[in-house]
Amino acid sequence: MINEENKELAHRQHVKYFMRFLNILPSSLSSHDSTRVTIAYFSVAGLDVLGSITSISIELRSRIIDWLYLLQVQPRKSDGDMSTCGFQGSSTINIELDNANSHYRCGHLAMTYTALCTLLALGDDLSRVNRKAIINGVKALQTEEGNFSATLSGCESDMRFVYCAACISYILNDWSGFNVEKATDYIIKSMGYDYGIAQCPELESHGGTTYCALATLSLTNRLDQLSEYQLDSLRRWLVFRQVDGFQGRPNKPVDTCYSFWVGASLKMLDILHLTNYNSNKRYVYETQDYVVGGFSKWPDTCTDPMHTYLGLAGLSLIGESGLLEIVPTLNITRRAYDHLKSLHQKWASEL
Ligand SMILES: [Zn+2]
Repeated sequence: MINEENKELAHRQHVKYFMRFLNILPSSLSSHDSTRVTIAYFSVAGLDVLGSITSISIELRSRIIDWLYLLQVQPRKSDGDMSTCGFQGSSTINIELDNANSHYRCGHLAMTYTALCTLLALGDDLSRVNRKAIINGVKALQTEEGNFSATLSGCESDMRFVYCAACISYILNDWSGFNVEKATDYIIKSMGYDYGIAQCPELESHGGTTYCALATLSLTNRLDQLSEYQLDSLRRWLVFRQVDGFQGRPNKPVDTCYSFWVGASLKMLDILHLTNYNSNKRYVYETQDYVVGGFSKWPDTCTDPMHTYLGLAGLSLIGESGLLEIVPTLNITRRAYDHLKSLHQKWASEL
């Protein structure tokens, strides 16, 4: 929808848009039921970046917090095993299973990461998080190559879950389940001939996985493991992803979410200011639904909570007014990050 009024943030409409997802999952998203926690994260984080976390009533905030804690997988009762601990994605799979199917009851790194971010944005003190168990769950998922599987019940292992594991370790302030040296080695091996970073070694460089890799190196203080030449070449690769908005790979169409994935990567490397903010902003606004709220990946296509949140986060990175500051590594607001830092201080004083 390209018109004059669509050059401005439809703030009120976006607040209503996210509130709808917190009350009911639309049928168009029913196939995402098993990853419902991520929809809660995009909605709550979206309201947070809009400066509207108080639009969620105190009663609803506490219901969301209680629901998230119900999804936490606790150590096995029979022997105390913690390898399956973490958060599951949906109450649909949060059932007591008989022994034959009990391997389906296990945490998932992306769900654990987004559940923790959602709890932080809602102001929870993480006191019900079984920190030791979750760190053991993270440890059980790191592979010999240094990357991570998402879940013990079996799935792919790649850069996305390296990032989730790093965020969980950072948030819980405990790196005992994350072998930093192995993960760093995996990231450096995943840098391509063009100096972008891929899901795994030998695959195509990608804006999303480059973000995951850079954020992990930043959270683990290992950005200095890349040589100056590698860093400069990666900066070049990232800057060249701008068309008007940003694309994830060369010769691919631009997409609203890369204003965050590539924008945040450029921010971590201190060169976001070398990009053209106006054309980036113009593209993202072309994907805004000014009437009912939300952003889509392309103009005149369906909006969704992920592109809506990432569109707002991308606009926040370039200083759009009416939005709170985003911390690019963890992908939460500075407000939620400050709350996390106060929890870290509290935990340290309890030692
Ligand atoms: Zn996208």
